[in-house]
Amino acid sequence: SAPLAIVRGAGEAAERGILMRTGEAFQGLRLVTHIVFDKTGTLTEGKPDLLELEAVSDTEDELLGVAAAVETASEHPLAKAVMTAALERGIGLPPLDHFEAVPGRGVRATLKNQMVLVGNIVFFKEQAVPLGDIESRVRTLEEKGRTVVLVARENAVLGLLAFGDAVRPNAKYTIDRLRQAGIRTILMSGDNRAAVERVGNEVGVDEVHAGLLPQEKASLIRTMQQAGSVAMVGDGINDSVALMQANVGIAMGNGADIAIDAADIIILNNRLEAVLDAREISRWSYRKML
Ligand code: ADP
Ligand code: MG
Repeated sequence: SAPLAIVRGAGEAAERGILMRTGEAFQGLRLVTHIVFDKTGTLTEGKPDLLELEAVSDTEDELLGVAAAVETASEHPLAKAVMTAALERGIGLPPLDHFEAVPGRGVRATLKNQMVLVGNIVFFKEQAVPLGDIESRVRTLEEKGRTVVLVARENAVLGLLAFGDAVRPNAKYTIDRLRQAGIRTILMSGDNRAAVERVGNEVGVDEVHAGLLPQEKASLIRTMQQAGSVAMVGDGINDSVALMQANVGIAMGNGADIAIDAADIIILNNRLEAVLDAREISRWSYRKML
C-alpha cells in the first residue's frame, strides 16, 4: 500500500498544481542529479511572435499565405504564430493535401498540387533545396537569437520567417535554485545553436545542446544516466521519447497531449518553478517516511 507520507505529499503537490502520476516518479525525484529542460514552451513562454518576413520572389502576403496554409495542420507553437500573422493581414488560406510533420525539422504538404516545405535550414539541406543567397540571411538572423523558418514551393525558396520567443520570467530563478541544490542543468532543443545558446546563457544552465531530433534528446539522456539519475522537463511532441527515457519525466500541462501521456509528473498551472516545489515535496515526504 502507498505509504501515508506519499499520499500526503501527493495532496500537497496537487495544491501546487502538480499531478503525480506514480509513486515511483515521486520518490525518484529526490534522487535526481541532472535536470534536462526543453527550450520552446519550457524555458520560454512557447508563444513565438513572427518578427521578420523576407520574400525572395513573391509578395510578403503570398509567402505568409503559403506558410500559413501548411501550418494549419501543425500543432507546433511556430504554426500558431504563422497563422496569427496571416489572420491579422486578412490572408485567405488555400486547402492542403498530404500533410506531414517532420519533428525537429518542419512540415511538408501539397498545396494546389505543388509540394511545399516549411522548416529550418537543416531540413532544407536534407531535402536538397537550393538555398542561394538566403543562407547568409538565415545565419545573420539566427545570430540575433531568432528562430528562422524557410518556405519553399516545388523546390524553390520563397522566403523566410523569423520568430522570437520570450524566456519565462522565472526560468533563471528556477535554474539558479537547482544549481544551488547541486543539480546539473541541461538545455536540449531542436532549434538552431545561436538561439539555444542565447536562452542557455540568459538562464545560466550548465550545458546546452542544439539541433536535436527527438531520438537524439533521448540518447543524450541515456548517456547522462551513466553518471546519475535524470529528470526531463518538456512540453512538445518532440519531447515524448526523452520524457519516457528519463528517470522522471515532467510535462508542462499546456503542452502536447503526447508529451503529457509520456510524463510521470504534470505541471498543471504553467509554472516552471513547480519543478522546485515537486522536488521539495518529494524530499520532504521521503524524510517523513524514515
Ligand atoms: P524545441 O526542442 O526547442 O521544442 P522543436 O524540436 O519543436 O524545438 O523544433 C525544432 C525546430 O524545428 C524549430 O525551431 C523549427 O525550426 C523546426 N520546426 C518544427 N516544427 C515546425 C513547424 N511546424 N513549422 C516550422 N518549423 C518547424
Ligand atoms: Mg517544446
